[in-house]
Amino acid sequence: MFDSQTGGHVGVADDPDVAGRPLATGVPGVYLFPGSFETIIGLLRQGIAAMAADEPVRRLHIPPVISRRVIEHAGYVKTFPHLLGTVHSYTGDSCGWQALAELVDEGGDWHAQQRISDLVLLPAACYPVYETLTDQALDGPRKFAVEGNCFRQEATSEIGRLRSFRMVELVTAATADYCLQWRAHWLERVSGWLRSLGLHVDVEVADDPFFGPGKKLFQAAQRMQELKLELRVPVADGVVQAVASANYHKDHFGETFRFSCDGEVGNTSCMAFGLERIALALINAHGPDSGSWPDGVLAALGGGHD
Ligand code: ATP
Ligand code: ZN
Repeated sequence: MFDSQTGGHVGVADDPDVAGRPLATGVPGVYLFPGSFETIIGLLRQGIAAMAADEPVRRLHIPPVISRRVIEHAGYVKTFPHLLGTVHSYTGDSCGWQALAELVDEGGDWHAQQRISDLVLLPAACYPVYETLTDQALDGPRKFAVEGNCFRQEATSEIGRLRSFRMVELVTAATADYCLQWRAHWLERVSGWLRSLGLHVDVEVADDPFFGPGKKLFQAAQRMQELKLELRVPVADGVVQAVASANYHKDHFGETFRFSCDGEVGNTSCMAFGLERIALALINAHGPDSGSWPDGVLAALGGGHD
């Protein structure tokens, strides 16, 4: 793989002979996924859906872009400006474009007049959900199951750290007590599920990669309140990464989007799954051919040998 900070190639996943693994492209952190890898992604979707079968979830497929206003409003821009991908486009006239067009072939500054649009790239799958609850008074928990293609302008591109990756999330909006219990329940359930997939799981209190002078303070506060818990598993030889996280946002989104539940400001929790990372972990443990995985593993993915 390519390291965007050093400009050097590191790691193994770009070897086209390594069957079933993501193929590197000319840009760091962006991969092409072979059919056998996609089969594993499909099994993961199925396994997660089977786990959530007894929850009355609203299923939503999330597009890879989201309203810039929502992301500004939700606080993402202030806390993670370094990760956010913005969408720009040319808004000048065709005369103005003539001169700029000539710069394209030279690799010149043709984009000097691109302007930011009303969209940004989706940084996490759950963000659009909270906006759908704007100004609502919920009379009980509201649950969602979402999947989206997320983008993060990661500074490095070691194995498992992609810039474009898929995230499935189970999300609930409810009271504080309910959200905390729901998260604890899902943390336990997903840890057990990952173990049944033959993976070694560590649960750890974690923090988000905040930016700027407030970074240390935000991270310490997040850890002290145990708002983010990560499930970490080996994804390659000697590499352990978070493949899922269980998050409690308190009333942050309820305040922002003015929704309530049972008379109190709405609280939210989400259980997020990184599909590519779980797939890499499974390949690392059982090989790239999912057809030859142990029956117990396939059963936990909602399938199995006939
Ligand atoms: P990390 O600490 O590894 O940067 P994160 O804490 O920022 O991850 P979350 O925001 O909790 O991640 O995202 C939910 C899940 O999405 C993570 O547990 C992980 O499995 C996956 N994920 C996050 N960032 C990436 C990435 N750059 N490439 C691949 N998967 C990712
Ligand atoms: Zn989330």
